[in-house]
Amino acid sequence: MRRGKTPAVVLARRLSQAVWLALIVLIGVQFALWALPQTAGHAPEGTRPAGVEGFLPISALMSLRLWLAGQGIHPVHPAGLAILLGVLAMSALVAKSFCSHICPVGTVSEALGRLGGRLLGRTWAPPRWLDLPLRSLKYLLLALFLWVTWVALDLPGVRAFLDSPYNRVDDVKMLLFFAHPSRLTVAVLGALAVGSLLVRDLWCRYLCPYGALLGLVGRLAPLKVTRDPATCTDCGKCTKVCPARLQVHTMTRVASVECTSCQDCVAACPVKACLAVRPPRVAPSRWWLRPALVVVVAVGVYLGVTAAFRLTGHWRGDVSPAEYARRLPEIDSPLYTHAGGLAAGETPAAATSGAAR
Ligand code: SF4
Ligand code: SF4
Ligand code: SF4
Repeated sequence: MRRGKTPAVVLARRLSQAVWLALIVLIGVQFALWALPQTAGHAPEGTRPAGVEGFLPISALMSLRLWLAGQGIHPVHPAGLAILLGVLAMSALVAKSFCSHICPVGTVSEALGRLGGRLLGRTWAPPRWLDLPLRSLKYLLLALFLWVTWVALDLPGVRAFLDSPYNRVDDVKMLLFFAHPSRLTVAVLGALAVGSLLVRDLWCRYLCPYGALLGLVGRLAPLKVTRDPATCTDCGKCTKVCPARLQVHTMTRVASVECTSCQDCVAACPVKACLAVRPPRVAPSRWWLRPALVVVVAVGVYLGVTAAFRLTGHWRGDVSPAEYARRLPEIDSPLYTHAGGLAAGETPAAATSGAAR
């Protein structure tokens, strides 16, 4: 990266990451204040933020399946579907850009990698013979997720899962998982945090199934980092800064599933317009979207999709405050395990009215 003034694209991306991280922390606190008292039978504080449904990827994938099958937007946790569609849309336009602009885990992972680099002088990059098999792990996890959500259940089964008591409160189940972590959970999270100091993007590069999906979707993106061989001086600065360890200076178009469109390479390039996120077959001199505006466009797509859900009344689901107040004090009962919830066979009407037991 050039010394002195920080490039606008770097500032824009860091600002985006900081704002989203702060927002997600706020959502987490608001949700905990609302949910935890209710699990002890007390009145909630404040209201439930629907944005918490962004942390329910299985439920969102199942809703996506129903939606794609023409069965409409399922009313339980629709914000989860909105967020998933927003994430997919921005990553399908600007390759995998959710990872480098919004994802809070990516932001924390990036910060830990930077901290590790400062503390230790450099982070460790596994050799290629180890890196390749490790990178395949996230695809195995993605295959498992897709099998559970798209293969193991037929459409009525998917609908039964989404209507189940378990799914209706799985936002609170997820909160309790992290609010009262087991020793194993603490050990795994601790190992990942320490590992991220030593190996940059340990979770994202090797284990995250969501990132694996976005990488595949990003392959279709029209906007990708593109190098102009005519003006490139072969200085290698782009390759040196690439967090995904790509040989950017040898590529004309960066079509790798690992590229997150972070544009660190673009910011580092000393030749104007030589490296840019742009469509294929457009001459660098004719491309008008500046690097910082790519950040605005990517985040704007996400905001546009989620706003469409809000404006059409599909942001808040049909699990009412009264239903939460009824269910949360008994959330540890077998009814709210995956198998127990499905076996209970509540109909949506019964669930909402409280008739089923
Ligand atoms: S790989 Fe996963 S955790 Fe990492 S930034 Fe992307 S979506 Fe987030
Ligand atoms: S190629 Fe450029 S945009 Fe892609 S990950 Fe590497 S530095 Fe970021
Ligand atoms: S930093 Fe720019 S000029 Fe240097 S190798 Fe990369 S694309 Fe070429």
